[in-house]
Order: sequence, then C-alpha cells, then structure tokens
Amino acid sequence: MLDAAFMCRWMTATADAVDRDEARLTDLDSAIGDADHGANLRRGFTAVAAALGKEPPGTPGAVLALAGRQLISTVGGASGPLYGTLLRRMGKELGDADEVTREQLARALGAGVAAVGLLGGAAAGDKTMLDALLPAVDALGESFGAAADAAGAGAAATVPLRARKGRASYLGERSVGHQDPGAASAALLIGALVEAAA
Ligand code: ADP
Ligand code: MG
Repeated sequence: MLDAAFMCRWMTATADAVDRDEARLTDLDSAIGDADHGANLRRGFTAVAAALGKEPPGTPGAVLALAGRQLISTVGGASGPLYGTLLRRMGKELGDADEVTREQLARALGAGVAAVGLLGGAAAGDKTMLDALLPAVDALGESFGAAADAAGAGAAATVPLRARKGRASYLGERSVGHQDPGAASAALLIGALVEAAA
C-alpha cells in the first residue's frame, strides 16, 4: 500500500531528478521552445519539496493536491498549470484514503492525464508531455518499472513528431528531430515512482 510518505518520496525524488537534469531539459527547450523548461520545473519542484518538508500532509491525496497547488503558483510557463492540474486531479481522485494501491494510483494518473488533455487541448502524438504520460497509465497497472519504461519510450518517440501544441508548434516542420522537453520531464516524474518504491 502507498501512504502519504510514499507520495512525499515521489515528489522529492522528482525534485532531485529535475535538479540533476535541469540543463538537459533547458537544452531541449532551447531547441524547440524558449529555454526555460529546466528552470521552470526546478523552481516548481523545489517549492513542492519545501512545502512538503514544512508540513507534510497526512494522506496521499493531500500530498499530491498540495504539490499541484505549489506548481501552479510557482511555475510561470505552460508546464506549471499542466503539471499542477495533473497532480491536483490525482489528489482529488485519491480522496482522503490513508493508503492506496498501485492500481488506484494508476487510475488516478489516468484521470489526471485526462484533465491535462482537457486543459491544454492536446492529444496523443501532438509532441507534448502527454506522449510520455499516456503510455504510463496502463503500464502503471502492471508495475512501477513498466510505467517508467513506458514513459521513457514515449518521450523518446516524440523526436520524429511535429509539434501541434504549445510553443514548439510555432516551429512547424522545424520541431521535427528534437525530443519534446515536457515529455522528457514527464519521464522523470514517472521514473521517480521507481525510486519512491525502492
Ligand atoms: P513554456 O512553453 O510556456 O515555455 P515550458 O517550457 O515550461 O513552458 O513547458 C513546455 C512543455 O509544456 C512542452 O514541451 C510540452 O510538453 C508542454 N506543453 C505545452 N503546451 C501544452 C499543451 N497544450 N498540452 C500539453 N502539454 C503542453
Ligand atoms: Mg519553455
């Protein structure tokens, strides 16, 4: 069973991963965006880790809801409201249960990903974070490792795609040949689940 401490570990492992990979995320965003994705997410997840460290909520749902609110209030770019919505919606889905199963977390991820799709109007294949998140939903029903692999493969598969949403879509054909930065960071987020579970 997954408790509030598990969700705090997930969020701090994500903050660590974003810290480690900040330059890579910024490089990806400098190729097809405005070179702020690494800094945006580092600011956001640093605030998440600080808020959770100060007053860790008692339930998994409340941890994710707090993390989502922090991302929305601290990240200026498009990714802040999108990741914020993902985590807030997941938190809402988990309700006030003290512990949840991995299968429940997978269903909550599915609801969160659907909310991201509604907010941003993107679908699979549009070369966004959704291309890493969507494959992770079903795979998380199987295992944490399968979800991490699916998200990583989904992020890698954005390279040949042409962006149809977000800043990268302004480049049209010139967005082809680069990995989407948001898909890369989504793979970090899902990969951090493996560390939280270890
Ligand atoms: P900004 O584009 O405002 O500079 P970031 O650089 O932080 O914000 O985030 C860019 C990432 O956000 C993109 O790589 C993409 O994955 C994601 N993104 C942008 N717009 C959308 C959207 N409408 N739906 C889903 N994801 C999106
Ligand atoms: Mg950007």
